[in-house]
Amino acid sequence: MPMTLPPSLTSLIAALSKLPGVGPRSAERIALHVVQADPEAAKHLAAALVAAREKIQFCEPCGALTESSPCSICTDPGRDASLICVVERAVDILSIEKSGTFRGRFHVLGGKISPLDGVEPEDLRIAELEKRLSVEPIREIIIALSTDVEGDATSHYLARRLARAGLKVSRIAYGLPAGSGLEFADELTLSRALEGRREMM
Ligand SMILES: [Zn+2]
Repeated sequence: MPMTLPPSLTSLIAALSKLPGVGPRSAERIALHVVQADPEAAKHLAAALVAAREKIQFCEPCGALTESSPCSICTDPGRDASLICVVERAVDILSIEKSGTFRGRFHVLGGKISPLDGVEPEDLRIAELEKRLSVEPIREIIIALSTDVEGDATSHYLARRLARAGLKVSRIAYGLPAGSGLEFADELTLSRALEGRREMM
């Protein structure tokens, strides 16, 4: 009978290979590293995983990742409550924050409309955004979605659906190749894209 890996190692590899971007080979490499490293390092890693998963939640108004909802951006009195930047994913907030030019608040959509992938408008946090429009003093929505087909379609859908008196809807101007998202923009490009935003409605 050929030698097989011990069951606990096999199940660690299986668990790791379920993570995004970790293929079977990487999962095996990480697992073999962990079981041969200092036992304290493994304990630390396990504790960090559990603590992060237990503490991190979505901010109820904006959808950012936070340890307490509402998040520090939603509760910061120094930020402009009349300005909302709409992004696809929570991590996009970090890209815009790094550019250092935006002083409003955010709204995470949670994806883009994509009928081929089964993502319909009701799967996104659009109703939550409409609710915010009725209770917060919002005067401008800046759409900062990627420049691919789904990003364009979602931006136009949002501009039509959110159109109402007294509300400006604009979209950031990218100096980026078509099809790329916020994570590929450097800070200067992003601050220019925000400043050069164009009104849609
Ligand atoms: Zn928030």
